Amino acid sequence: MHTATATDFLSDFQTMSTFGATSGGGVDRQAATDADAQARLWLKSWLEDHGFQVHFDAIGNQFGLLEFTPGAPYVLVGSHMDSQPLAGRFDGSYGVLSAAHAAKRIKDEVELNGGHPPLNLAVVNWFNEEGSRFTPSMMGSGVFTGKLSIDAAYNAKDLSGIRAKDELERHGFIGSFQMPTPAAYAEIHVEQGRSMENAQITIGLVAETWGAKKFQVTVKGEQAHTGSTLLVDRRDALFGAAIIISELRRYAESRSGAPLQASVSTMEVLPNSPVTVAREVKMNLDLRSPDWDTLQDGFHAVEAIIKGAESEAKVKVDLKLTHEWKLSPYTPEGVELADSVASELGMRYQRVQTVAGHDSTNMKDVTPTVMLFVPSVEGISHNEAELTSDEDMLAGVEMMTGTLRRLVQGDLN
Ligand SMILES: [Zn+2]
Repeated sequence: MHTATATDFLSDFQTMSTFGATSGGGVDRQAATDADAQARLWLKSWLEDHGFQVHFDAIGNQFGLLEFTPGAPYVLVGSHMDSQPLAGRFDGSYGVLSAAHAAKRIKDEVELNGGHPPLNLAVVNWFNEEGSRFTPSMMGSGVFTGKLSIDAAYNAKDLSGIRAKDELERHGFIGSFQMPTPAAYAEIHVEQGRSMENAQITIGLVAETWGAKKFQVTVKGEQAHTGSTLLVDRRDALFGAAIIISELRRYAESRSGAPLQASVSTMEVLPNSPVTVAREVKMNLDLRSPDWDTLQDGFHAVEAIIKGAESEAKVKVDLKLTHEWKLSPYTPEGVELADSVASELGMRYQRVQTVAGHDSTNMKDVTPTVMLFVPSVEGISHNEAELTSDEDMLAGVEMMTGTLRRLVQGDLN
């Protein structure tokens, strides 16, 4: 039998999963779409119903504030409710709902026990963490931490040419609130990998993040007839792109030593016509590794692969770095604090790394941060079949509640 608070959480999670629900059991809730707006409005009423003050800032980050001690700094806790296309219900959303429920439990405790914790508490739903509709990813936390200019964020366009700013305005999500830099930040997320499942643990204490380099690749060739133009005369941009994609994969697979994830996952082909050789292909290229030298090696390999593709396909290739983050540790005192909370609560836990970027990847550089994981079944993510069990979700809420209980006392400050 679940307690009433556990039942409330699971029923709220079910409601939240209806916004942008897909027939395959997932959600499609890309940033600033109607489905994302519905989820955000639902969160707004949930927070207001439970005594939070809700505000939006200039980039559409949504904050729910609980003031225990007037004028005191805030502990901020949250994640993101936007999703990839045709994605799972847990990525990001679980973290926002856990944050809201854990914060509400702290509020109940404060009201029951009296007293004023030295720090206030706020829940955040960051705008556009996924970066699928508008790039770059981690947009709301990027602007919040000063890593991304608001103009760059506003002017990001989706594939149909719609600007992020216009979509935020359409939904009424641009506000004038300025959240001060928090005293501490906490986030919980599904692992999106299988290391915790393999180790049979419930709580991961994220101790460091992998590094990443993300590029835009533009392959330029020349438009020609697919029938009458001889192969020798072609400058086929799609052929050049294919060489880059397959050579990159072969390179990454042939390496030994530290892991390297190398991917191309988007492609825009011009003119994209069945009887015309492509004149231009735009694609992304994504390198990730827990080791900086490996990431640099990967970058040099990409340059060499491009040279080869240019000469074999007779094309020109532009490689533009669009986003990168270094592998770096999370706040060691944050990991220690989470370790003692997990041990007090009798959780099965250990330190883990994150391969994926998160809003906490930005936040940890400006404020002491605690980052937690719960397991993902078979590591499936960015897929409708993404799954975290009810028990693990509830353990995560417990764990976040215990963490916030310490953070509002200023234990990380
Ligand atoms: Zn996420």
